[in-house]
Amino acid sequence: MADAREHYNFLKVIMIQIQNFINGQFQSATDPVTLDNYNPATGEAYSTLPDSDAVDVVFAIQAAKKAFTKWSALPATERSMWLNKIADGIENRFDEFAKAESIDTGKPLWLSKELDIPRAIQNFRFFASRILHYQSQYTDSGSVNNDVINYVERSPLGVAALITPWNLPLYLLTWKIAPCLATGNTAVCKPSEVTPMTAYLLAQVLEEIKFPPGVCNFVFGTGAKLGDTLTSHPGVAAVSFTGGTETGRKISESASSKFKKISLEMGGKNAAIVFEDANLKKAVSSLVRSAFLNQGEICLCNERYFIQESIYKEFLEMFVEATSKLKVGDPFDKDTFMGPLVSKAHLEKVTNAVERMKQDKAKVIFGGNSEPLSDELKTGYYFQPTIIEDLSDCSELQQEEIFGPVASFRPFKGIAEAIKWTNTTPYGLSTSIWTQDLTKAHKVASKIDVGTVWVNTWMKRDLRMPFGGMKDSGVGREGGDYSFDFFTETKTICIQL
Ligand code: NAD
Repeated sequence: MADAREHYNFLKVIMIQIQNFINGQFQSATDPVTLDNYNPATGEAYSTLPDSDAVDVVFAIQAAKKAFTKWSALPATERSMWLNKIADGIENRFDEFAKAESIDTGKPLWLSKELDIPRAIQNFRFFASRILHYQSQYTDSGSVNNDVINYVERSPLGVAALITPWNLPLYLLTWKIAPCLATGNTAVCKPSEVTPMTAYLLAQVLEEIKFPPGVCNFVFGTGAKLGDTLTSHPGVAAVSFTGGTETGRKISESASSKFKKISLEMGGKNAAIVFEDANLKKAVSSLVRSAFLNQGEICLCNERYFIQESIYKEFLEMFVEATSKLKVGDPFDKDTFMGPLVSKAHLEKVTNAVERMKQDKAKVIFGGNSEPLSDELKTGYYFQPTIIEDLSDCSELQQEEIFGPVASFRPFKGIAEAIKWTNTTPYGLSTSIWTQDLTKAHKVASKIDVGTVWVNTWMKRDLRMPFGGMKDSGVGREGGDYSFDFFTETKTICIQL
């Protein structure tokens, strides 16, 4: 911890000034006023970022538009080579990226090293390889008198706006950048203003490897100030967004009227369903992670736990016991399972939600408060892993995304009830079902309105599979060829031979 403190103090002294990266060059925003960027572990500002406005966005769009002609004309093998070079560049600075991600978000350093940074590298390598094998469709409608062939040509769209949230900053940004560039588009990236640091490091990597200028631009600042220009500008052909549902709604309104292609990955209120025949030990171990990994700040985290009534008491006791062993503390401490929440505003949101639950007669079984820590960390944004028993259908806890370390529990009688409760939210991102009876698992999975169902596991992702949400959780799918389909336009060519 002493080392971590020294590092935090060092950062405060040097006060990194994040800059926009437009047309291959770092530059300040037109408005010289900057925003402070905070270290959630201590609550202290440690860097600044541009508060960009419409003018900066337009510069970036123009740069991306200019770069498009050359970039889109490169053979896929060359674009693939560039993506691998970016992956190498991140790999060469692996520790720096991991530390930066943990300081910016509050996630434990081991998690940045095991999940966020390896996955960012893998995103580039995966799409670098995939683009070499991307095929399109061909049909032969020929007959003796009518020899006709049809084939589908896929072409890049142009400039894409890539807008991402604060919870998995580099992981989610690279998940968009890699397929966007692989298919020949150019990009204007708008990372979250809450966690901009690893996007800035990525821009440094692009500069280091002499990546073609203008192909991938970064504009930092708030969505409120620059968002509308980015999503409605005629020079932008597509908008790929990951973030909250209300923001997605605004983006959809701004972009759809201009007939842009849009992909929206939004919020969730995911459920776990545990049947009485489940392997309880395995279920508890996986589902505790699904509630509290990354401080519960993953869109795929479960917030609702429906447990069959015959095992409800036993399961809840096991869950509480496992939760009580989780250490909350400094992200740089190797024993820490949960670091601080990402920001003061988010800590307030989670705290207020839990307070409202208490008044709503839900029963707090574990946690429920800010985590009291040592003097050094007491200004950080720590919240306890929290378990609440809530027996109502339509309470805020059952309906609204909290996006923090808060798990609600409720017993169910049978399959019909579990399905009904799982579907009783506006969201439809993911569900995790636990049973040894795979026929039952299959029946339940097909009745649940979500984009991803896990059976006897949670958050295992194969990058080739479609990812996205139903209902208010999303529009469109990402992953493998689904990402390529989004980032390309389809043309049918019919030839009479
Ligand atoms: P957010 O919606 O507040 O912000 C996301 C991004 O949108 C940020 O970069 C923000 O600056 C930008 N933005 C805000 N207003 C904008 C506007 N009017 N126009 C354009 N851009 C705008 O979300 P957040 O608080 O950063 O992230 C948390 C949310 O993200 C949660 O709801 C979570 O479920 C969701 N999320 C979803 C997924 C998924 O894959 N479905 C993954 C991660 C996070």
